[in-house]
Amino acid sequence: MENTSFAKETAAVNTEFLSLNPSTLEVIGEVENTSADEIDRKIKNAKIAQKQWSARSDAERKEILLKVAEALQQNSKHLAEWITREQGKPLSGPGSNFEMQACVGWTQVPASLDLPEEVVFEDDTRKDILYRKPIGVVAAIAPWNWPLMIAIWQIIPSLRMGNTVILKPSEYTTFSTLEMIKVINSVLPENVLQVVTGRGEVGSYLTGHPEIGKVMFTGSIATGKKVIEASAKNMARLTLECGGNDAGIILPGLDLSKHIENLFWGAFLNMGQTCACLKRLYVHENDYENVVKALSDYSANIPMGNGADENNVLGPIQNKMQFDKIQDLLNDAENNNADFLFKGQKPDQDGYFIPITLIGNVDNGSRIVDEEQFGPVLPIIKYKTLEDAVEKANDSENGLGASVWGDELEEAQKIAAQLEAGTVWINQHGAINPFVPFGGAKKSGYGVEFGVEGLKAVTIPKVISIKK
Ligand code: NAD
Repeated sequence: MENTSFAKETAAVNTEFLSLNPSTLEVIGEVENTSADEIDRKIKNAKIAQKQWSARSDAERKEILLKVAEALQQNSKHLAEWITREQGKPLSGPGSNFEMQACVGWTQVPASLDLPEEVVFEDDTRKDILYRKPIGVVAAIAPWNWPLMIAIWQIIPSLRMGNTVILKPSEYTTFSTLEMIKVINSVLPENVLQVVTGRGEVGSYLTGHPEIGKVMFTGSIATGKKVIEASAKNMARLTLECGGNDAGIILPGLDLSKHIENLFWGAFLNMGQTCACLKRLYVHENDYENVVKALSDYSANIPMGNGADENNVLGPIQNKMQFDKIQDLLNDAENNNADFLFKGQKPDQDGYFIPITLIGNVDNGSRIVDEEQFGPVLPIIKYKTLEDAVEKANDSENGLGASVWGDELEEAQKIAAQLEAGTVWINQHGAINPFVPFGGAKKSGYGVEFGVEGLKAVTIPKVISIKK
């Protein structure tokens, strides 16, 4: 337990952290680091609760989780307002009401799916049956970009399979998450789902705790590596959903009129602060001017401002750290003679607003292309041949998503087959679905969420082998 006592010291440091409304800079509250003793106590309670929770029938857990979905639906307006206030995404468009509908859907689907026992081998001499058992206590570490939806992705499959969960929301979006947990816990038995709050050191203490059996992590690659290191202490199983720097390739001669709306939201959903947003767009040199014009014209009409005003569908960057990171990448592009092809309007008010920005005269090797910008900025890169485009799209340590845009489906599928990513979308980007496994290739993480594969990920396979 030497490591634990060291971690206890760091987790006990009560560094205050202020959660702000990113549109107005209003202080929402001070986030406290849950102490190490309190985390120990919660994990102990989660272990006791897990025995009772997993002893319930599968049908009973399913029914309880469907009631959770109803409670989320009933409280969705209130929770959407909380998301807008703390995370910043607007109520309208694909914003916080949309996030709440996703929370409801991503609760209903894992609650409804089944993972029955399976006879994996049988002959005259033996029969082998595969069962899926809960792991125990799951630590869920959530990010700030889709704070409620991603927490739901981690919590609901874990509970469905009979685990209990301790969630650590991002320090930037703690209060909206706590509101959602109140709603969920109005339905769940005591200690099945608990929360700890605070910064990275709290996450570090939680994920390395000897009693944690599984970590569901969504966040940056850098933090993902720390979670892997922590798992050397407790051998916790891991699902890691880390960053992405998704490429899109537009095939030559695409009829843009059909695709421009999907291209725009593929790149700028949640102000580009989405792991699977389109972050680099490769366009044939003959189509470059048309694509730039079509995207600029479309972007010019999308209103940005405080998301509490239902006229706005684009909001602020969530926090100052991210705002500075994007500004730094924009400055670097400017210093290296990038073309600023389009710059949208930004509201004349406090808040971390960055206008929609399209950038040209950059290529692989430019920081704005190579690094995950996680903001409302899209570099558009010319290619001469499709081979060249595929090579550049694959030239990244990330491999979360990618997309191909083409009128000829067969050709688009051929290119999709060559892209190194967990998901390649055709004529859409980031179009996730609760039935369809989602996860990253390369350094974008490992393991998958969603669907039956996502349920398997929060279980231990157990075989009972019978001699005949
Ligand atoms: P982050 O890695 O900074 O933080 C994620 C969470 O980890 C937070 O709750 C944070 O407090 C916690 N944390 C920090 N240090 C820790 C440690 N040592 N041990 C355990 N937990 C620790 O990421 P972020 O800035 O909140 O999120 C943005 C990143 O997340 C982007 O890179 C984005 O692409 C990625 N992301 C990925 C997916 C996906 O599904 N692949 C989805 C959303 C976001």
